[in-house]
Amino acid sequence: MQEGKINVQTENIFPIIKKFLYSDHEIFLRELVSNAVDATQKLKTLASMGKVSDELGDLTIQVIADKEAKTITIRDRGIGMTADEIDKYINQIAFSGAEEFVNKFKNKSEAEQNAIIGHFGLGFYSSFMVSDKVEIFSKTYKKGGATKAVRWECDGSPNYTIEETDKSERGTDIVLHISDEEKDFLEESKILELLNKYSKFLPVPIQFGKEKNQEKVEGEKDKDGNDVYKEVETDRIINNSDPIWKKAPADLSDEEYKNFYRELYPMNFEEPLFHIHLNVDYPFNLTGVLYFPKLKKNLEVQKDKIQLYSNQVFVTDSVEGIVPEFLTLLHGVIDSPDIPLNVSRSYLQSDRNVKKISNHITKKVADKLEEIFKNNREDLEAKWDDIKVFIEYGMISDEKFSEKAMKFALLKNTDGKHYTFEEYNAQVKEAQKDKDNKVVYLYSTDKDEQYSYIQAAKDRGYDVLEMDGVLDNHFINTLEQKLTDVQFKRVDADTIDKLIDKDEKLPSKLDEKQQEELKPVIEKNINKEKFTVVFESLSETESPIIITQSEFMRRMKDMEKLGGGGMMGMGGFPETFNLVVNSNHPLVTEVLEEKEEEVQQAKVKQMYDLALLSQSLLKGKELADFIKRSFSLIK
Ligand code: ADP
Repeated sequence: MQEGKINVQTENIFPIIKKFLYSDHEIFLRELVSNAVDATQKLKTLASMGKVSDELGDLTIQVIADKEAKTITIRDRGIGMTADEIDKYINQIAFSGAEEFVNKFKNKSEAEQNAIIGHFGLGFYSSFMVSDKVEIFSKTYKKGGATKAVRWECDGSPNYTIEETDKSERGTDIVLHISDEEKDFLEESKILELLNKYSKFLPVPIQFGKEKNQEKVEGEKDKDGNDVYKEVETDRIINNSDPIWKKAPADLSDEEYKNFYRELYPMNFEEPLFHIHLNVDYPFNLTGVLYFPKLKKNLEVQKDKIQLYSNQVFVTDSVEGIVPEFLTLLHGVIDSPDIPLNVSRSYLQSDRNVKKISNHITKKVADKLEEIFKNNREDLEAKWDDIKVFIEYGMISDEKFSEKAMKFALLKNTDGKHYTFEEYNAQVKEAQKDKDNKVVYLYSTDKDEQYSYIQAAKDRGYDVLEMDGVLDNHFINTLEQKLTDVQFKRVDADTIDKLIDKDEKLPSKLDEKQQEELKPVIEKNINKEKFTVVFESLSETESPIIITQSEFMRRMKDMEKLGGGGMMGMGGFPETFNLVVNSNHPLVTEVLEEKEEEVQQAKVKQMYDLALLSQSLLKGKELADFIKRSFSLIK
């Protein structure tokens, strides 16, 4: 037996490993299983070059937990190591890597440490986070010379021993003697959880424990002639070693993509809307499958569901800074060995490679959407309500995406018809041009609440867009910047004549003097701070009183709500409305001519309440009073 001392500059690195990495001890399993996979892949490569004389045999990696002995063993049938190689790779190289890591880690603030943890593979030495003692039993694939099996042992001090042992099978066993504080890791459920999290898609089969299955008994039938099954225990393989993102899209069916989605998100019962298969090998290597999920109202909680892999090893599901913000709403897998994973997040965000990858993903997503638009517009329209949030988010936040999306983004009107921007402009340009040559796009944020306003617009032959999505308020601003000579106005922002101001006015039945006379009669009944009385000469068929809120005022209010605080002092902008009196309506003339003041006031009150009602502004006591009064009117 040979004893040795690992060459240390850092006093005793193991307590530091334990202390600093406390919150992330679980990654030890990821690191060791990944090493086992590497050793197996290397063997396969060597074999394909004719350099391995043995039969390869079953290359399944085994994870074995022994609660009594308090050990976890990770067993592979890969290339193995000679005594010299253990000395070189474990005693020297791996150790200096771990030491460098710890040194980097030591001087960082807690926040920075948390950012590094999990993104920096500590490699083999992470096993000391959970072990009192670690043993390596290894036998190399090489023949002749000093190729006897060896056993290495280290108890978490810089001292190690190495000796010959009588392992007969090629490959490596890493045996962890789990410390008392970490004994939870010996639980089968815990190990299963970790393997599922980090190793679910590794390219070599990984076996842990057994599972029960039903197996058909050949040649046996029950009395009704049915097949007979018996329960058998088989090895449980925890991973899917051939995940679809590694396959060629042409070989995959829609069903397989859907199944994979279920495999990734077993708790999400909604089917994805579309998928995109990424497959790049130049100038960087990237594969993956992204899905457009069906989103719920609250966008925040659904972000960050993309899983990032490096050569099929799970790294993180927090992809902020790696994919553009709006794409964090997508689900799926991205796998790239070219993303530098062993660094902090801020480094990632400024990395040029990462930027390129991010741009590429954006481009791919845009291309795919354009392809769907071209080849299957019906499908896109059918799913538009669900998918539009991605596209709007992208257009608001990403200039490159926006350029492309101008071709396939759709607008939907209140009749459920879809148009591209170009189509829509052609459709409404003539009718909806105002006297300043701007084309006014009318929109509604609530088809039911704004029903009467939509109707008034339609009666004029105007079209109304449905803009009721979570991002539509924002999106309207973005569109106004992108589309030339287009102005968006909500249908209830003004009377229809003013919304699309054509310069041609109906003559007014009430002259100015009469209007002056009527104004105070109306004002008596209303909250003057909130409502400004204006007269307009509208068609007789329109309502006598209409309540509107200017587009500008409402947008200010909306911005204020988004920003949280009030912009003008504590109260913010006062909420104000116009109370438009239709000077051509017979009821208005009637009110003016009414001699009995009480009757006159009652009529004004009723008209005013009805106008409020049509804007959903009549609430509480006012609403109750109105209803009572209306009943007594029927009597
Ligand atoms: P890394 O895997 O990043 O190189 P590690 O500290 O995990 O760093 O491992 C150091 C080296 O030890 C590996 O590069 C490999 O050469 C060797 N090694 C570790 N585990 C195994 C194994 N199961 N079989 C063969 N070699 C191994």
